[in-house]
Amino acid sequence: MGSASSILAIAYLIGSVTFIVGLKMLSNPATARKGNLIAAAGMFLAIAGTIFLYEENGRKLGNYGWIFAGLAIGSVVGVLAAKKVKMTAMPEMVSMFNGMGGACAMLISIVEFNHLVHGGAEVNIVAGFKAIMAGAEYNAFTNVTGKLLVILLGLIIGSVSFAGSVIAWGKLNGKIKDFAFKGQHIVNLAVLGVILVLMVWLLVSAHHTSTSDYSIDLQINDAGLQLTSGGALAGLSAFFYIILILSIAYGVLFVMPIGGADMPVVISLLNSFTGVAAACGGFLYNNPVMLTGGILVGSAGTILTILMCKAMNRSLKNVLIGSFGASAKSGGGTAVQGNYKEISLSDAAVVLRYAGKVMIVPGYGLAVAQAQHVCHELEKLLEDRGVEVNYAIHPVAGRMPGHMNVLLAEADVPYEKLEEMEQANAAMPTTDAVLVLGANDVVNPAAKNDPSSPIYGMPILEVELAKMVIVNKRSMKPGYAGIENELFFQPKTSMLFGDAKTVLQQLVAEVKAL
Ligand code: NDP
Repeated sequence: MGSASSILAIAYLIGSVTFIVGLKMLSNPATARKGNLIAAAGMFLAIAGTIFLYEENGRKLGNYGWIFAGLAIGSVVGVLAAKKVKMTAMPEMVSMFNGMGGACAMLISIVEFNHLVHGGAEVNIVAGFKAIMAGAEYNAFTNVTGKLLVILLGLIIGSVSFAGSVIAWGKLNGKIKDFAFKGQHIVNLAVLGVILVLMVWLLVSAHHTSTSDYSIDLQINDAGLQLTSGGALAGLSAFFYIILILSIAYGVLFVMPIGGADMPVVISLLNSFTGVAAACGGFLYNNPVMLTGGILVGSAGTILTILMCKAMNRSLKNVLIGSFGASAKSGGGTAVQGNYKEISLSDAAVVLRYAGKVMIVPGYGLAVAQAQHVCHELEKLLEDRGVEVNYAIHPVAGRMPGHMNVLLAEADVPYEKLEEMEQANAAMPTTDAVLVLGANDVVNPAAKNDPSSPIYGMPILEVELAKMVIVNKRSMKPGYAGIENELFFQPKTSMLFGDAKTVLQQLVAEVKAL
């Protein structure tokens, strides 16, 4: 191993370690930013190392113009997009970035397939020469099938992820409408079946292609001794591109019928696909940092998908087939009866100002209203007047994992004020007043009491255990799950109607005046 490749191996090792450390740090809001920077630094090291130190058979990378132009364009677009994005548009940006990862894996597979077909078979001349001198047979193409398998996996998973993510992005920003037809799931399964059959067929055909089927061309030119092989796999190219087209079609068909608000779960699943596709690239190039990164993204995405499904009490199959939205929107659960009562702004201000302990429950409505800053202002005002204020964070409050944590961090709410569901529920009985801000499903007691409710079994914030509950929303309309909320009709609950931002601004003024 030359000194350049030893340094490169160390750079890859450091890169891999930073990914693991960075990911670990991302699990806590206090360390998340630093974790992200550490992992990004590791990625920078791995990329710089590959560009300047990588060499194969004594030759370094070429095409520097293309490489640096790509890096410059990607960096500028990435930085601008990340700086400009609104918090509510975060899932669509994640989706688009994820789609680009899938597209990379897809392109790598196309390039490597062409290498394999047109002279890229790995031929170790020295090993071959030694084998032949020893009277043994040397088959230079033994690893073709293995390599083709990895190429095909990267192609299929990468293109499904790319096409699916682009559709998810379009649906989230309203450019693409939901589209479903009768029997779509059967068509999807059939397309997937054809892809798998073609893949197996291609592999078996490649395996039965013997050395004699290749034309081998030996030349001595400026680049030294060059050996190219080709021919045998070229006949199979058409099938490779059919697999590519079908995989893109599958990605589109698979995401098209899923309800817009279910998209974060699908994006998380597609994210894990991209990770696996990148790991295939790692295998292909024998590149440890690509392999580690891919495996981490693949496993983290899978764990996140499972956690989101659990927090919504839904199976992945249920999310993918979309029956939650369908059953909920058509009115699942027992109808809620009774009256609700309203509270005036001034009375709400008095309740909050003279409470000993207040718990704020943020939800999707707070994010839509962009009311996080004024919410923090109210919290500080109450704290200054001796009220203990904390936030109860439900794992799927909002529309993406960690939505509320990120939203409140943006407004500089201290991390230690955010209580996770279990901790918050334990504190509810000693809480004087709960202020629910644009949250609905995550505080719906039907999840505990009504077995016929579509959200039955979903863990919720048990706000009804507190002494009093004030709910701010604009109307009596249901939330994401499309069902009524019996909390609003309970004697302890008072409704404070209005846009979260306006109501909070008015509450701040009222508390100041007290
Ligand atoms: P919900 O969607 O249940 O409720 C939000 C409420 O906010 C609505 O009832 C709405 O009522 C109110 N609202 C909307 N705009 C405003 C506004 N400007 N000011 C005040 N209120 C407003 O949100 P939750 O956060 O309680 O629950 C999240 C839901 O999303 C769960 O069902 C979860 O399963 C689902 N989900 C979450 C994901 C995640 O990763 N976090 C991913 C996918 C789905 P009104 O119209 O009357 O104002």
